[in-house]
Amino acid sequence: MLTGSCLCGAVAYEVEEPLENFIHCHCSMCQKAHGTPFGSYVRSPGVTIKHGEDKIARYESSPGFYRCFCNECGSVLPEDVDGAEFYFVPAGGLDSAISVKPIKHIFAESKADWYRITDPLPQMAEYDEIATEQGLTSVEQSERGGVHENHVSGSCLCGDVAFRYKSGSARLMMLCHCSRCRKVKGAAHAANVFVAPEDFEWLQGQANVTVYDLPDAERFGNSFCKQCGSSVPRQSENSPMVNVPAGSLDDHPGIEPKAHIYIASKADWFEITDDTPQHIEMPPA
Ligand SMILES: [Zn+2]
Ligand SMILES: [Zn+2]
Ligand SMILES: [Zn+2]
Repeated sequence: MLTGSCLCGAVAYEVEEPLENFIHCHCSMCQKAHGTPFGSYVRSPGVTIKHGEDKIARYESSPGFYRCFCNECGSVLPEDVDGAEFYFVPAGGLDSAISVKPIKHIFAESKADWYRITDPLPQMAEYDEIATEQGLTSVEQSERGGVHENHVSGSCLCGDVAFRYKSGSARLMMLCHCSRCRKVKGAAHAANVFVAPEDFEWLQGQANVTVYDLPDAERFGNSFCKQCGSSVPRQSENSPMVNVPAGSLDDHPGIEPKAHIYIASKADWFEITDDTPQHIEMPPA
């Protein structure tokens, strides 16, 4: 039996095999829910919650389609679809090694404008035929703001939390493959944009933001909307910068990824195929 869990450890689950139809989903809802350019989901015939059922929050992002997350740490958990005979498991949340690999990209037409798909996997514009046969219909895409003159704006999936930073103020963007980022985002890697606090402002919903600080970690944590679980910006006490999850942005971040970091911890099911520089841990300052 395969196992998975959230970052804080409150929620643990078992995942039945066979795992099938492992996909990267680039829909705008996955981008916001994970805070990353895409979610990576593998289909399982059964998921059993071993503990922490009472910590699981559910957000209905499309009719009958529930995005589940830990209400303590915000980790993305297996999804629940009304009437479906399977579960969508975010591969980043698994603790067990798996032998299956992603087979395609879905919702490639909705992909983040700063992200390039460089692997040879097939790209579907929306859902693939398997999902369509199982009754999944096209998701409603949230409105992306396009280019704003003076600011780069972002928001969570439910829309309660919104923020922005000054155009051109992003200092750095990194794709982090560390095990903590993979687990909390439930994804192949995090995509973090760093801006100075003076260039950043909350527009609404800051009261709905839950901040989770990983005990014993110098600065690792996760901020998320308590309503929908989406990753939202975070500033830790020990960091001079605000960390903005790129998937939460409605505009182009105004910067491109500068590095893949912590690739020694990379998921074994994910291959880096772009030419962005790679670092075993952190690049030298
Ligand atoms: Zn948790
Ligand atoms: Zn998606
Ligand atoms: Zn929200």
